[in-house]
Amino acid sequence: MKVIGLLGGMSWESSIEYYRLVNERVKTLLGGFHSAHTVLYSVDFAAIEQMQADGRWDDAGAELNRAAKALEAAGAEFVVLCTNTMHKVADRLEAGLGIPLLHLGDATAAAIKTAGVRRVGLLGTGFTMAQPFYRDRLAAHGLDVLVPGAEDRELVHRIIYDELVLGVVKPESREAYRGVIARLADAGAEGVIYGCTEIELLVGPEDSPVPTFPTTRLHAEAAVDYALGTTSLPVPPT
Ligand code: GLU
Repeated sequence: MKVIGLLGGMSWESSIEYYRLVNERVKTLLGGFHSAHTVLYSVDFAAIEQMQADGRWDDAGAELNRAAKALEAAGAEFVVLCTNTMHKVADRLEAGLGIPLLHLGDATAAAIKTAGVRRVGLLGTGFTMAQPFYRDRLAAHGLDVLVPGAEDRELVHRIIYDELVLGVVKPESREAYRGVIARLADAGAEGVIYGCTEIELLVGPEDSPVPTFPTTRLHAEAAVDYALGTTSLPVPPT
């Protein structure tokens, strides 16, 4: 079994989910006392969030590059960056790294294509929904990505940063998300990506009229399958 390098803390609320999910999957697949072989590097999200807000993406990339190298030095055989948003700096993270990054966008695209979905709605932080780095990666996989309108994007982003990254889960926010998801489905989305690793704390498949693609779960599953050698790394778009 390969050693999974989890780079989390963005927020630790979702890092816990990754840790739980990789261990549950190893237990399901191997049984007995088996558990995932992991190294976890968890950042201080306050510093990262400030860099996001200031648009200091180079600084954030340098910070994540240091963290990824620390994972490598600690024995990790590949890196799982436990956040969609920070894949914006995936290239910077990988600079000089001797181990691969299991890209969340590629793992998600593979699951969507396997499900036979092509037009997919995207929920995530404002950065993930509005900027090209994530949508373009999915589009390069042949997917047609729909994002909510400006007002809904603002709502989805605000609930992530004011509530979910702090571990706050409110029924009224779940209702608000259900509304956004329904509007994406009405606009033609055949599936919806829960493209922020804290969103699964709030909503599940039951909150959507169309199939959902929960990135934390999909990423964790891809990590275990790669660690166990049952799959190769998700293929990047050409
Ligand atoms: N975890 C979130 C994501 O998947 C947002 C917080 C962060 O910037 O990492 O995008």
